[in-house]
Amino acid sequence: MAKWSSTYFRFGTLLRGIGISFQCACNSYRAEGISCRHKFYSAEISALRSNKQLRNSSEIKSLVPYLDEGCLLRITGRLLEAELCFGEKHPIILPRRCKFAELLATREHERIGHCDASATLTQLRKKYWIPKGRQLVKTMIRICVICKKYNAEPADQLSGQLPRDRIS
Ligand SMILES: [Zn+2]
Repeated sequence: MAKWSSTYFRFGTLLRGIGISFQCACNSYRAEGISCRHKFYSAEISALRSNKQLRNSSEIKSLVPYLDEGCLLRITGRLLEAELCFGEKHPIILPRRCKFAELLATREHERIGHCDASATLTQLRKKYWIPKGRQLVKTMIRICVICKKYNAEPADQLSGQLPRDRIS
C-alpha cells in the first residue's frame, strides 16, 4: 500500500510539473476505467449483451445492472420515481480493484475536506457504485497523509527521574 501511495504522490507531482489538472487526468483515466470494467466484468457484459442471466456468483448480480448506450454498466436501481438526476438514479458500476476507482475515491475524499469514509462514500455514490466501496474508501483514507497527520495520537513520554535537590 505504501508503494501505491508513493506512486500516487509521484503521479500528482508529475501532473503539477506538466501543468495538468487532476480533472484532466481523471478524464484520461476514464478510458482506463472502461477497460477496467471490461477486464473485471467481461462475463457480465457479454451476458447482458446476449440477454442472458448473470451468474449467481457475480458480485454485481444483486445490483441488476444494465448496459447503457455508451456500454457503461449501470445500476437499474429502485429510485426511478425519485426526483434525482440520471447519474444518481443509475450510478456507473466500477470494480473495486481498479486504479480509476482508487483515484476517484481519493479525489472525493480530498474534495470534501478529508471527511470520514461515510461522507466520502456518499459523494462517490452520486455518480459511481463500487461494490465493497466502503473498504476501498477506508483504505484510501488510511493512506491519506493529511488524515494521518491530523488523526495521529500524541506519543507517550516517560518522565525522567527527579534530581536529588528537588526531592528534599
Ligand atoms: Zn484525508
